[in-house]
Amino acid sequence: MAGQIYIVGMGPGHKSMMTSEAFAVMEEADVIVGYTVYIDLVKEHFSDKEFFTTPMRQEIERCKACFDFALEGKDVAFICSGDAGIYGMAAPMFELLPEYVNADFTQDNITVIPGVTAAISGAAVLGAPINHDFCLISLSDLLTPWELIEKRLRAAIAGDFAIVLYNPSSHKRHDYLQKACDIMLAAGALPNRACGFVENIGRDGQSSQVCTLSELRDMQVNMFTTVFIGNSKTKIMGDKLVTPRGYRYE
Ligand code: SAH
Repeated sequence: MAGQIYIVGMGPGHKSMMTSEAFAVMEEADVIVGYTVYIDLVKEHFSDKEFFTTPMRQEIERCKACFDFALEGKDVAFICSGDAGIYGMAAPMFELLPEYVNADFTQDNITVIPGVTAAISGAAVLGAPINHDFCLISLSDLLTPWELIEKRLRAAIAGDFAIVLYNPSSHKRHDYLQKACDIMLAAGALPNRACGFVENIGRDGQSSQVCTLSELRDMQVNMFTTVFIGNSKTKIMGDKLVTPRGYRYE
């Protein structure tokens, strides 16, 4: 009989920020599949498990391995950082599934287990930066044309959303955050718009900083950073970033 595949959001990193459902699924699985960096984060808790890792850029091989294990009859926990359905592997798994469907293996063999995405865990570090309407935008143009990213940044400013930027930087894209800030400034965001960023959320070396949009433009952040752009009402309060819900305090 074919096994089950659980596509698991493991949260930002630390075990305490993983849901108990995610932990239980990993404990029950025959094999845990994931990107090498994430497997290294969870390995110590599941020392008796079979692990299968692939490096960055080999995401589709990782997905295919999950199907192969399941068709051999193994239960698979496929782990993704944060939530598996937010810039994660849940969608590719469903897109690839038709190639593997048979009498014994259907969509019912796949379950998605939610996890705490970086926007949520990072927001908690900064206080309340997304306490009103917000949107998530990834600055990675590996799978999305840069023109579309620009369009979404402009639209988010036009709608006065608070914005959470994922993938703000990489080895090849060290100036993308600067480019994104320039686009938001040109779209009408004021240079003193309240912003912040959190690095290594829930991992060793977690740190956060608040700043204005014009200061953010000149910051160097790394790929393990989530960036928050406030809406026009967001304020910096000490080392926190607070987007008002709209209550009046009289
Ligand atoms: N599925 C993940 C996102 C993957 S995209 C989630 O739901 O969180 C990768 C980007 O997510 C990184 O470039 C960074 O912007 C953000 N990110 C993921 N984990 C993070 C962490 N522990 N600390 C800071 N940013 C993180």
